[in-house]
Amino acid sequence: MTDLATALAGQGIVYLDGAYMPAAEARVSPFDRAYLFGDGVYEVVTVLDRKLIDFPAHITRLERSLAALSLRKPIADASLLEMMRRLVRENDLTEGLIYMQISRGVAPRSFDWPEGAAPVLFAFAVNKPCLDTPASRNGVSVMFGEDRRWKRRDIKTINLLPASWAKAEAAEQGADDVWMVERGPDGRDYVTEGSSNNAWIVDADGRVITRALSTDILHGVTRATALAAAKADGITLVERAFTPAEAQAAAEAFVTSASAFVLPVVKIDGKIIGDGAPGPVTKKIRALYLEAARRSAM
Ligand code: PMP
Repeated sequence: MTDLATALAGQGIVYLDGAYMPAAEARVSPFDRAYLFGDGVYEVVTVLDRKLIDFPAHITRLERSLAALSLRKPIADASLLEMMRRLVRENDLTEGLIYMQISRGVAPRSFDWPEGAAPVLFAFAVNKPCLDTPASRNGVSVMFGEDRRWKRRDIKTINLLPASWAKAEAAEQGADDVWMVERGPDGRDYVTEGSSNNAWIVDADGRVITRALSTDILHGVTRATALAAAKADGITLVERAFTPAEAQAAAEAFVTSASAFVLPVVKIDGKIIGDGAPGPVTKKIRALYLEAARRSAM
């Protein structure tokens, strides 16, 4: 077997269209619109201590993505929860994530949305440490890059080529990730978000700043939980766009995503942030997020 085939075989038991099977046996048609048009949406739910983190919020966002694209959800919420729990059991997952996607399904290739195509639900588990990682202990570096995505970034589609491209460029430049930058209506450049996470900075006065929700960014589930937990703790939060210069002058910086929680950023486009180590506000918000997320885990 090639290395890739071995890696796939190690992917454990997956769910495809109502059935559970070894990953290497899962098959979909090349006429699936996910393959031909990138026509589908997805969610990633993290598992800690065998429990699903922020599950209801991921379902709410899934519904939103589906509705925006007139896609039908092929499974009830209760069954989706049961499916994810079964993947946790089948794969003996104590820590990691569940990836799930819904595509519009198989149809003769046509730009029109097909009548009567049956949406295809595919899900798999990834067994990996999320909590205690070198990145969470030491922080990561980001570089700036142009935001090349479409205009509806609030829809969590499987069209991840711009993000994947950005990450490849970051790797080439020796950075861990890209903070995407876009010109605002006022003619100034602003950070939108990371390639697969929401971007945050802490200014010299301890104010925590992250971009407000709009169609410009994905409405991060982790962002929402972290925001609420930080607010409840009395931390001053400002939801507004910030510039690359503000980011580089920040006292601290971090990103949020389901799989990385609250992840310190210690270098931005070559500039060391603070003393180059995860800062106190970032650590506090990470702790607050994890406490809130674990409390509601299911
Ligand atoms: N922004 C983008 C572009 C993302 O891909 C993700 C993660 N999928 C996020 C933000 C973070 O969202 P969440 O906290 O729901 O994982």
